[in-house]
This record gives sequence, C-alpha cells and structure tokens, in this order.
Amino acid sequence: MKNIILFGPPGAGKGTQAKILQELLGAPQLSTGDMLRAAVAAQTELGKQAEGIMKEGGLIPDDVIIGMIQERIEQPDCKEGFLLDGFPRTVAQAEALKVMLDKKEKSIDRVIDIQVSDDELKRRSKNRAEQAIAAGEPVRSDDDPVIFAERLETYRKQTLPVLHYYQEHAADGVLCSIDGMQDINTVTSQIKQCLEA
Ligand code: AMP
Repeated sequence: MKNIILFGPPGAGKGTQAKILQELLGAPQLSTGDMLRAAVAAQTELGKQAEGIMKEGGLIPDDVIIGMIQERIEQPDCKEGFLLDGFPRTVAQAEALKVMLDKKEKSIDRVIDIQVSDDELKRRSKNRAEQAIAAGEPVRSDDDPVIFAERLETYRKQTLPVLHYYQEHAADGVLCSIDGMQDINTVTSQIKQCLEA
C-alpha cells in the first residue's frame, strides 16, 4: 500500500492512527496541522499568517497548504508512499493533489474515512483540554469549546465535500469507511484490513 489519506473530522483519531500506521508501513505521516503548529512555534512568515486563522478554527488558504504539501511529498522519504493526515481539507486541495500525483504517475491508493459522532468528538476535545491542564501542559487554543464547535462547522461545510469528491472520482475499493467510535486497536485492525483488501 502506497499513498493513503486519513480522512475525518477533528478528533476522529487520524493522527493517532497515522502514528501507528507509520510504524507498521514504514511510510511517513504528513500532518498539515503539525507542520502549521511548528511554523507558528517558530514564528516563520507562514506561522504568523496561520496563527490567527487556526485560533479561530478556520482553514489556511488552499495555495499556501498546497505549496507546503507539494514540497513535502518531493522529499525522498515519500518516494515509496505517505500517510496524509489533515489534507486534503477542501475539494480544491483534493484536485491539486491529483494533479501533483498524476505528474509522477502516482495516485491515491486508499482514502480511510474515520467516522465519529459530534457528541463523541466534543467529549474527546474536552478530555484533551482537561488532560493538558492536569499535566500542566498548554491547552491547544482550538480545543476551546466554542472554537472546537467552529472547527466542526468548518469540517461540515468545507471538508465533507472532499468525501463526496472521492465517492465520485475514486476507483472501486479506494474508499473505506471505518467506525471510529471503537477502541484504537480495533480501528487500526480494520484499517489494516482495508489496506490489505
Ligand atoms: P489539525 O491538527 O489537522 O486539526 O489542524 C489544525 C488546524 O490547522 C486546522 O483547524 C486548520 O486551521 C489548519 N489546517 C490543518 N490542515 C489544513 C489544511 N489541509 N487546509 C487548511 N487548513 C489546515
């Protein structure tokens, strides 16, 4: 299995599963959220531009994100495949990804759609914030309940159409839906089944 997209709302477990699969498959996790948080921490030009948008639960402009991913997938460690976590988040990003891969005569092999109810996503976000406070660590500002609700709204409006894009355009067997309400190990084994099918 080569090029994989982990798709789902914020808090569905994309990052958790990407980290496990990274070890199992030996393919790097490409998390646009992690890249942006690193840029914010380093206060690069990109970081300064992204900070306010991320704090409000919005999306960074497509051209910025597409450029960032394009540069990343050119790196040698992506040659044999990669796990996209948090990208594409708009149909324009999905279309740009297709153009990028077409040029390399590559394609997306699997889109793993991890499904979790809104109530559970809100519970997980609250838990993350409480655990950070208990550990004396900084709370992610976008785990604030009002901002998290905004992120869910952004997902519904701008990111869910990406799923419809793949339902329409992907070849049979590329799209797998997984019940993300199950425990982490069960979700991993169902993703593995999808990758092996
Ligand atoms: P994440 O860690 O994936 O939930 O991303 C955190 C935040 O980074 C999001 O709420 C967005 O503001 C921004 N972000 C991450 N990935 C993207 C993307 N593909 N397109 C636009 N904004 C993004």
